[in-house]
Amino acid sequence: MSMQLLQQGEGQAIGIVGGTFDPIHLGHLVIVEEVRIQYNLDKIIFVPTGYPPHKADRDVTEPEHRYLMTVLATINNPHFLVSRVEIDRPQGFSFTIDTIRYFKDYYGPQVKLFFITGADAIMEIPTWKDYRELLSICHFIAATRPGYSLHKLKDTIGKACPEIMDNISVLEIPAMQISSTLIRQRVAAGKPIKYLTPDSVNEYILKNGLYRNAK
Ligand code: ATP
Ligand code: MG
Repeated sequence: MSMQLLQQGEGQAIGIVGGTFDPIHLGHLVIVEEVRIQYNLDKIIFVPTGYPPHKADRDVTEPEHRYLMTVLATINNPHFLVSRVEIDRPQGFSFTIDTIRYFKDYYGPQVKLFFITGADAIMEIPTWKDYRELLSICHFIAATRPGYSLHKLKDTIGKACPEIMDNISVLEIPAMQISSTLIRQRVAAGKPIKYLTPDSVNEYILKNGLYRNAK
């Protein structure tokens, strides 16, 4: 873990963003920076997943590559950090609740934790392990994402478990129709990905021959 991450601070507000980041792209960076500014967060910790069970339908790129691309993409933002907590877990994948408990224990009760997701991911929350506890220890911020209606979110979650809506804020951000899937498909088709992800990530992908055979 980086030295910066080791600084424990009184009353800080910290954003956590989990993802496969296969690869990280400008959609991630734009939403996270917007959340940071609007919620006045002191820092944001990007947490690349190990091998997540819900993506078992395709081969997720090695964690080390995804971690390094996330580091490259965030290197020029002093508020952005990357954690290895999930990729270093011996069992290969972890639940968000374990990661949040880890950061809560690490930073202590005086620190306020925010978990940042896109509108698609937040929709799944009632299926997450111990989601009620999760919502009691951190506040969720759901960013709008093209193709996912926030009315549906309010409908789905609002009906299933209305009490958790109090711990979810919705943030409208300028639409970013970028996904890692799109990037993988473009690389596989030999199309450029310039301006969809930072140049350093683009170069890392080329240098390591990633996604050439992505489906
Ligand atoms: P994939 O296409 O492989 O699913 P992805 O682009 O959805 O990749 P993830 O790593 O799955 O990226 O997403 C991490 C988090 O970032 C999720 O909470 C997701 O909803 C959010 N996110 C990703 N891209 C966007 C976007 N363009 N707008 C809003 N949220 C996004
Ligand atoms: Mg996704």
